[in-house]
Amino acid sequence: MKYSVFSLIHQAIRGQKDWTPAWRDPEPKDEYDIILIGGGGHGLATAYYLAKEHGLKNIAVLEKGYIGGGSVGRNTTIVRSNYQEPGNIPFYELSLKLWEGLEQDLNYNVMMSQRGVLNLYHSDGQRDEYARRGNAMAMHGVDGELLNRDQVREMVPFLDFENGRFPIQGGLLQRRGGTARHDAVAWGFARGADSRGVDILQNTEAKQIRVENGKVVGVETNRGFIKAKKIGIVAAGNTTRVAETAGLRLPIESYVLQAFVSEAIKPLIPCVITFGAGHFYISQSDKGGLVFGASLDYYTSYAARGNLPAVEDTIEEAMAIMPGISRVRLLRHWGGIMDMSMDGSPIIDKTTIEGLYLNCGWCYGGFKATPGSGFCFAHLLAKDELHPAAKALRLNRFETGHVIDEAGTGAQPNLH
Ligand SMILES: Cc1cc2nc3c(=O)[nH]c(=O)nc-3n(C[C@H](O)[C@H](O)[C@H](O)COP(=O)(O)OP(=O)(O)OC[C@H]3O[C@@H](n4cnc5c(N)ncnc54)[C@H](O)[C@@H]3O)c2cc1C
Repeated sequence: MKYSVFSLIHQAIRGQKDWTPAWRDPEPKDEYDIILIGGGGHGLATAYYLAKEHGLKNIAVLEKGYIGGGSVGRNTTIVRSNYQEPGNIPFYELSLKLWEGLEQDLNYNVMMSQRGVLNLYHSDGQRDEYARRGNAMAMHGVDGELLNRDQVREMVPFLDFENGRFPIQGGLLQRRGGTARHDAVAWGFARGADSRGVDILQNTEAKQIRVENGKVVGVETNRGFIKAKKIGIVAAGNTTRVAETAGLRLPIESYVLQAFVSEAIKPLIPCVITFGAGHFYISQSDKGGLVFGASLDYYTSYAARGNLPAVEDTIEEAMAIMPGISRVRLLRHWGGIMDMSMDGSPIIDKTTIEGLYLNCGWCYGGFKATPGSGFCFAHLLAKDELHPAAKALRLNRFETGHVIDEAGTGAQPNLH
């Protein structure tokens, strides 16, 4: 069913009676050409691009819960491509370009809003580092502007510029960055994939990847065994658990990250703002709630739950740049599981098992990567070759030393 202004008018006149479900609820087939384990943003985007770009249809997406229940529906919705490392920039820029046309492509309103992402700097050293990042972006044709304090003040006058510990000196602005509605992205890709023949199997958990003679043959699920020629693991925070069933140990650790939403207030924050002297980021949703987050919980866990100590740490950082919101009430907060890689950058690659492919290591940055990840993973699955924009995102970089360490913190996943 195509969504348009005419279908809206038609439904309004007909009493909203003719809407059809956005995707089917099919029974699993005995066999698929490709099974994707994980119905988050990345699994659904991969299925969509496999069907759309490569004409493949005999595909299943296995989702142990419901579509949008994982991190794709739990994140703080920031979309950007302001990366510094040459291995990352082309990939994230491809993803941002796909975001820019995504609503037309999917015929679905994902509420993409290019309101800008502003990274604040608080010292001379940090200014130089941001200038370097901006130059690296410019060399790859990515937009970025280094703003001084007055220019930042003009955009966001309510910040605490004179903070005793972390005075704001300026910021790096990417105007094409912004936000999108997280679960709408999952729904849009699910609808697009389904309409091209992909089976989306909710409440279907992959229990065991079956491997015979070094080659995948299928997946044991709670709904029985399903044969497959190729299998893609796209399980984000649960990647290590799924990979373990095929005997793989990966350079990934899972941690909880929390998101926070306040009560709705009048429009205040015009863009996404990040605090450079800590790790705090904030934007305002179209409903008026302040949407924000900070660092990981610093211990490994598969529990997608919020907890109170992180509230205090997060709010402390908020107060360092925005004391003006101190009386706004927190409405809710929750957690999601992050698949943190050893260098903070993702992996899109084949594994040593024939027919088994890997898409993981998204850390906190996987939402913005959703279309790019799906596009490049679909390319790999369909053609058995790496997409040029993702050619650095290899699994063996941790053996060869070609790591892509944006944060410069070394092999400490919880610090990336
Ligand atoms: C609080 C928070 C804030 C964030 N903020 C941002 C942000 O602002 N910008 C940004 O770019 N990124 C952000 N992220 C990161 C981003 O959300 C994730 O990196 C990204 O969503 C992960 O990819 P996904 O959508 O495929 O994951 P998910 O939605 O988690 O999908 C994985 C799916 O696999 C399923 N699964 C797992 N095991 C199995 C199994 N055995 N069988 C079948 N299915 C299985 C899960 O149920 C899940 O639905 C944030 C994350 C969180 C939690």
